[in-house]
Amino acid sequence: MPAYADLIITDAHIHTVDDDRSVAEAVAISDGRIVRVGDMTSVERLADVETTIIPCDGRVVLPGFIDAHTHMESTGRHLVHADLSEATTREEAIDLLTRGDIGHEWIFGFGYDESTWPEGELLRRDDLDEVSTERPVVAYRVDMHTASINSVALERVGDTLPEDDIELDEGEPTGLITEDAVGVVSEQTADASPTLTLLEAATAHALSLGVTCVHDMVRHSDAPRVYRALDIKDELDLRIRLNYWSNHLDAVDELGLQTNHGSDRVEVGAIKTFTDGAIGGRTAKVTEAYVDGEGTGTWVVDPDELEALVKRVDDAGHQLTIHAIGDEAIEVTLDKLESTDSPGRSRHRVEHVELASDEQIQRFTESGIIASVQPNFHQWSGEGGLYDRRLGEARSRGSNRFRTMADAGVNLAFGSDSMPIGPLYGIHCAVNARDPSQRLTVDEAIEAYTLGSAYAGFAEDDLGSIEPGKLADLVILEESPWEVPNAIAEIEVWKTIVGGEVVYRSS
Ligand SMILES: [Zn+2]
Repeated sequence: MPAYADLIITDAHIHTVDDDRSVAEAVAISDGRIVRVGDMTSVERLADVETTIIPCDGRVVLPGFIDAHTHMESTGRHLVHADLSEATTREEAIDLLTRGDIGHEWIFGFGYDESTWPEGELLRRDDLDEVSTERPVVAYRVDMHTASINSVALERVGDTLPEDDIELDEGEPTGLITEDAVGVVSEQTADASPTLTLLEAATAHALSLGVTCVHDMVRHSDAPRVYRALDIKDELDLRIRLNYWSNHLDAVDELGLQTNHGSDRVEVGAIKTFTDGAIGGRTAKVTEAYVDGEGTGTWVVDPDELEALVKRVDDAGHQLTIHAIGDEAIEVTLDKLESTDSPGRSRHRVEHVELASDEQIQRFTESGIIASVQPNFHQWSGEGGLYDRRLGEARSRGSNRFRTMADAGVNLAFGSDSMPIGPLYGIHCAVNARDPSQRLTVDEAIEAYTLGSAYAGFAEDDLGSIEPGKLADLVILEESPWEVPNAIAEIEVWKTIVGGEVVYRSS
């Protein structure tokens, strides 16, 4: 242990998230790692003239939040282009698009959620023609599985879109597109948003919310190259674990990339794939039909294809992370993952797990498969909300059952899916879930957003709690979540520290 500390954080309530859930007054940091945690007197003994001291005036200090499921480029787009997640009506969305012009020929909007609007209607070409009849306009729905384009955009790219993914009305495209068609539009307009610009905006935003590490899902993207270039220049303040989409698997194997290999800032994570779609688009695979529309969802990747992929990825020694929302998708995903040698030791993950049955939750416990879940998805489980309308009240209340999962001993990792990034908002949602029987305690929710997510990234020896030897990633809050459990979402971050460096300070 070094004689002196570079940085001491003191006069604080430090919730360490260690095994005993102990609370300390001060923490000393040297060379980017935590060297002592304890009372002020014992920690301040490590100070000399060179030591930076941050007195916290009794503020709460937590381990830095680890968001186990982000789409940083998408977050960047919300920050750089029109952020339609703010719209509470169709008119507001149109207005944001009209004002959110950054000078590119295309006009972009991201993150609209018509389920929260009084009319509840998806945007179509007629709506977006109100924004412009001269320039192409595209508005992405919050789940990114659906987008809406105006007449000019349809003229430009209509011929290149896969027919199955275009909505028609009497043979005419309505401007609503889904799945692969959304991907085609994104690719054709990629130059409007340089990756570096998006990632810098998203990274700064995440740090301001207390996030110190993300597990970022990358697809059709040069984000990995941009992150590594920033890392080499020592300009990356956030830790990034890259979960590569399965369409990168050939490249990953050809280049010899391996799960958990990398630097302390950028490492290779899992191989990611889909099974089903999402509840909003009625494409999540459910055993019982939707209450407000036809059918029981669709496979985005069908079970046979999934089986082959699981085998190949697992044989190559990579971690797997599989999107599964509806109970049928979860069932099939568990079947395939359980067929691998040691799903628990490989820390295979299922993303979302929104509609898990009791029996499925038990299977997570027994296999050690990680449930990588998004507490902020409770934004749709409120009375009269999206889940009520699509699934009925009983299934809405039975969605995202974190209490049942925690009690069963499931490995829980929390993330946001960038809808939006915000761990305090997510913790708030988990603590204040609609169904009282599914609420987590503040301690449990924080643990899932720190140590739980660290475990999902094989990083529990380095991250996720405030203990000697671990990397010094911390967040200092303006208020205590334990004192305002009904208003955790409003708590401000005072400072964010990564590797012993203050990388965000509130103004
Ligand atoms: Zn996602």
